[in-house]
Amino acid sequence: MKNEPRLRVALQKSGKLSEGSIELLNKCSFNLRPAKNHYLLKSNELNTDFLMVRDDDIPGFVDSGASDIGIVGENLFIEYQLAGHNKNVEIISRLKFAQCRLSLAVVSDGDIKGLDDLNGKTIATSYPATLADFLRQNNIQANILVMHGSVELAPKIGIADAICDLVSTGTTLKENGLSEIHILLESEAVLLGRKDLSSQIKERVSELIFRFDSVIRAKNSKYIMLHIDKVKVPLLKDILPGCEAPTTLELHGYPDKVAVHVVSEEHVFWDTIAKLKSIGASSILCVSIDKMMG
Ligand code: AMP
Repeated sequence: MKNEPRLRVALQKSGKLSEGSIELLNKCSFNLRPAKNHYLLKSNELNTDFLMVRDDDIPGFVDSGASDIGIVGENLFIEYQLAGHNKNVEIISRLKFAQCRLSLAVVSDGDIKGLDDLNGKTIATSYPATLADFLRQNNIQANILVMHGSVELAPKIGIADAICDLVSTGTTLKENGLSEIHILLESEAVLLGRKDLSSQIKERVSELIFRFDSVIRAKNSKYIMLHIDKVKVPLLKDILPGCEAPTTLELHGYPDKVAVHVVSEEHVFWDTIAKLKSIGASSILCVSIDKMMG
């Protein structure tokens, strides 16, 4: 292990993506404890070094070989590609967190109602290449004002007529009197990898992706146990997706009933539990799953 090359992973040091990245990695046993001035975190797990950097530097880090892989918002990778940089980097896994969309937004009670009204106007954004590409494709002649933060303030302080920014819950837009008029793209956290990784590093990246997938699948799944009349078991498949072939166990002293164990890979909501009760299920247990393998 000592002479093996270390796997280098670029992560966002702080911001919307860093918490989810650290949470995912720690569920995969990396036990990372980021601290303010620590820019390099070392782990014995898979012989890995984590480089803590700005998220917009991550595609460049991977592309140039400063790191082997990196976790970043897909929107930043698209921006990087559209700015003409991408040579040696690709998306190797989708990580199902930090979902958001890149949207055009305008003053809610202003004159701009649709895309056509943007001609001749100024749009503030941190994603100039993605916006320029969209404007070109839609034949809209607008000016782009590049800002690296607080983009939603631009219309209020009179330096832009519209913005093109990331939206997650929509709260920030609402708080600043803005409304979305068009979604340019949907995004989530992705794992970027260099295309020419050595076979030794590739092996460890495959193991990492296996661990990520196990945790991601488990996140949305529940292990459900319940008691029910034997004759009602076929009804379960309409209520619990994944219940086509459930495990059933005899219940001592209750010959007409069984205990059912099933993993449901869909979200289980309160109305699912109510439906189970309505067909006579009892002793219902709904348990979170840590990891799902295979
Ligand atoms: P929200 O108020 O939840 O719609 O979040 C909007 C604010 O958070 C904006 O300032 C966005 O730039 C930022 N934001 C939302 N989602 C993400 C994300 N996935 N990655 C980076 N920044 C984001």
